[in-house]
Amino acid sequence: MRSKRKITFQYFFLVFIILVSFSFTPKNQNQNQNSTSKIPHFINTRITDGPFFFIQEDNTVIVKWIKGNRPIEKKIRDNNYKRIERKTGLSVDSEFLALNENKNIDLKQEYKDVEKFIALSDIHGQFDLFVKLLLQYEVVDHDLNWNFGSNHLIINGDVFDRGDKVTETFWLIYTLEKQAEKQGGKVHFLLGNHEIMVLNRDFRYVNNKYLKTSKLLEVTYDQLYSENTVIGRWLRLKPVIFSINDILFSHAGISQEFIKRRFTIEEVNKRFINLDYTLPKDSLQMFLEGTNGPFWYRGYFKPEIFNEQKLDRILGYLNKNYMLVGHTTMPNVVSLYSGKLICVDSGIKYGEYGEVLIYENGEFFRGTTLGNLIKL
Ligand code: ZN
Repeated sequence: MRSKRKITFQYFFLVFIILVSFSFTPKNQNQNQNSTSKIPHFINTRITDGPFFFIQEDNTVIVKWIKGNRPIEKKIRDNNYKRIERKTGLSVDSEFLALNENKNIDLKQEYKDVEKFIALSDIHGQFDLFVKLLLQYEVVDHDLNWNFGSNHLIINGDVFDRGDKVTETFWLIYTLEKQAEKQGGKVHFLLGNHEIMVLNRDFRYVNNKYLKTSKLLEVTYDQLYSENTVIGRWLRLKPVIFSINDILFSHAGISQEFIKRRFTIEEVNKRFINLDYTLPKDSLQMFLEGTNGPFWYRGYFKPEIFNEQKLDRILGYLNKNYMLVGHTTMPNVVSLYSGKLICVDSGIKYGEYGEVLIYENGEFFRGTTLGNLIKL
């Protein structure tokens, strides 16, 4: 009974999201008609951003959202999670809001014997195209629930900035992650440079909508994602680098300068788990957050300074055969250097066209927006 109710609320929440999406979507973008056509009439609320969950020191939770430009704030007392569920449609319980200090965090992030995954990157608030791709490859069903069984989904960083459906995108990834775990599947979300920028209070690329949201809620934009918020805590548990089988994932890639410094994956992930972004940064941290670090590196795309031998040395150091990156935008998913470098930022950020990388039993395919598979 309880779980059925949770599913119902979760469904309603996702319906809210879709409705909000449509209110901001140009008329010619009518994807997801299947999911919206089933929406009961009374669900047509006017939530225009949120919800944001703020956890107070005494563990009370304040939920804030914007409805028709009006900020709304509800205090939740005595762990009354049911009330949060009713207000937001999210399936909330004590685990959902738990403090993360005691969690046993896997810093190595090595996943083996994975038969199938889909990877995409640099969504930048383009929720509609993201959903379209997930539906196209049956990662989700038409109610936007996990439909990918024990397979893995990789979001290779950069959800923040540029587009105007960042909140919706984060909640969908967050929800899918929880659903996937229950089915033996896995959602990986990697930190990108835009996650690091927002958490470092660099708002140069933030969509105006979110500046308005934070103004209406009387906080700065990064405070919507502080360590005292649900998504903020979740973001602070996300890795910078991980691997599946013989493939290494990072947002922008691993440089020669990185391996010269003899960094290990555990060490880098550890630095970003529960990082206090307000503290001064040491030189290693500056390096990791800089041009040759895993969030910003673009050296692979400069043939005058890079070649396949250099990539081989980097892969050798990491003991992997393939490097997968987003960050540098390509017209589609591409592979370079005899197929050893796979670039999955296919321009989803422009909101028009995007691709996914499909890995199945050791083979790689491009998956187009229209569902065509092309061997890589
Ligand atoms: Zn990036």
